[in-house]
Amino acid sequence: METNKKTVLISGASIAGLTMAYWMKYYGYEVTVVEVSSSPRMGGTPIDVRGDALDSANRMGILEMIKNSRLPSMGLEFVNSQGDIEGRMLIDEISIRPGEDVEIRRDDLVNILYANAQGEIEYKFNNKIIVLEQDENKVAITFEDGTTGCYDLLIGADGLHSAVRKMVFGPEEQFAHFLNFYFTIMQVDAALGKENTGQTYNSPNHMATIYYYNRGFADALLAFKSSERINYDFRDTAAQKDIVINAFKNEGWKVPMLLEIMQNAKNFYFDQGCQIKMDSWTKGRVALIGDAAYAPGFPTGMGVTLALQGATVLADFIGKNDNIESAFDQYNNSFKDFVNALQATVYDGLAFLIPETFEDK
Ligand SMILES: Cc1cc2nc3c(=O)[nH]c(=O)nc-3n(C[C@H](O)[C@H](O)[C@H](O)COP(=O)(O)OP(=O)(O)OC[C@H]3O[C@@H](n4cnc5c(N)ncnc54)[C@H](O)[C@@H]3O)c2cc1C
Repeated sequence: METNKKTVLISGASIAGLTMAYWMKYYGYEVTVVEVSSSPRMGGTPIDVRGDALDSANRMGILEMIKNSRLPSMGLEFVNSQGDIEGRMLIDEISIRPGEDVEIRRDDLVNILYANAQGEIEYKFNNKIIVLEQDENKVAITFEDGTTGCYDLLIGADGLHSAVRKMVFGPEEQFAHFLNFYFTIMQVDAALGKENTGQTYNSPNHMATIYYYNRGFADALLAFKSSERINYDFRDTAAQKDIVINAFKNEGWKVPMLLEIMQNAKNFYFDQGCQIKMDSWTKGRVALIGDAAYAPGFPTGMGVTLALQGATVLADFIGKNDNIESAFDQYNNSFKDFVNALQATVYDGLAFLIPETFEDK
C-alpha cells in the first residue's frame, strides 16, 4: 500500500540502529532496517548504560526493563598470576550517575531494543547494501539480494567497520585512529569465572578478564598493546587466534586455559582497538550514528551509551525539523563537544586496563 510517509533505511540492527528504528517510527517515518546477520547479533561482555543514555531509555519506555536486567555486579577484582586478589573496583566508582548507571549483558540490551522496535518496521536480515546513489531528494539502494529501494534518508549504524561510511565518506583509514592495542572476546566455561564478578589479570601491556554472571557460560576479554599494526586477514579466524596465542603465550593465571578454549570458542571476535573521528557525520541525505560515526574504544566504557544517546539526539532533530539539512547541522554541532571530550578519556582507560608497568595500576 502506498503511503505519504517519509521513508528511512537504517543499516545495522544493533544498539544504535535499533534505537534509531524506534525513534524514526515514533516520528512518523516508514522504517526499514537492513542487517548483514541473520538476526540482531548477540555476544559480548557486560556493557554499561550511563548518564544521558538512561534518559533516552526512559523516553523510549524501556528503562525499567533495562534496570530489571541489571547485573548483580560486585565489580572488578584484580588478581595476580596465582589468582590472589590484589585490588577491587565497584562500578559506582566509575559511574556518571552513581547508583543509577546500569551494567547489563549486551545480549539483554539488544533483545530489549529489538522488542521495542517492532510493528510496521521492516527488517531485512541476511542482507546488505551493495549500491548506493543519492541526489538532493532521495537515496537509491540496491541490496545484495537484488532488490532495490528508494528512501528519503539513509542512516549508517553498521559499526566500527561501517560499509555506509566507506561508500559515502571514503575509506576507513581516513577516520580510524589506531589505539595501539588489539582485543578478543569469546564465551568460555562458566567454571572459569567467579560468581557475579569480573576478574582481571594484568602483566605489562596485557590484560585478561573473565566475567561470570550465572548464565551457564562466562565471557572472556583478552587485550594486548602493540606499537605496530599487525597485518592479518579479517576473514581468517585461525590467523587471528595465532596472533592472540603469540601475544599471550608466556602469561599466567587462567590465560593458558583461555588460549586452549579459544581454539573452539563460540562467538570468537578479534579486532584492533581504534576510535572513529570525523569532521562531519552527515553528507547529503546520509547520516552516521554509533560506532560507525564516533566509536570511542572499549576502554572508555561508553560505546553503548554514545550509540543510544547519539541515535536519540539525531532522531529528535530530524523529528522536530522539516529541513533535513538543518537537522543534520544541529546533530553535528550539538553532539561534537560531548563526543570529543569522551573520546579523550580513552588514554586514561587504557593506562588503567592495560598498564605498561605495574606502577600505572
Ligand atoms: C557481536 C558484538 C559484540 C560486542 N561486544 C562488545 C563488548 O563486549 N564490549 C563492548 O564495549 N562493546 C562490544 N561491542 C560493540 C558495541 O556494541 C558498540 O561499541 C556500541 O554498542 C555501539 O553500537 P553500534 O550499534 O554503533 O555498533 P555495533 O554494536 O558494532 O553494531 C553494528 C551492527 O551493524 C551490522 N553490520 C555490520 N556491517 C553491516 C553491513 N554491511 N550491512 C548491514 N549491517 C551491518 C553488525 O552485524 C551489527 O549488528 C560488540 C559489538 C558486536 C556486534
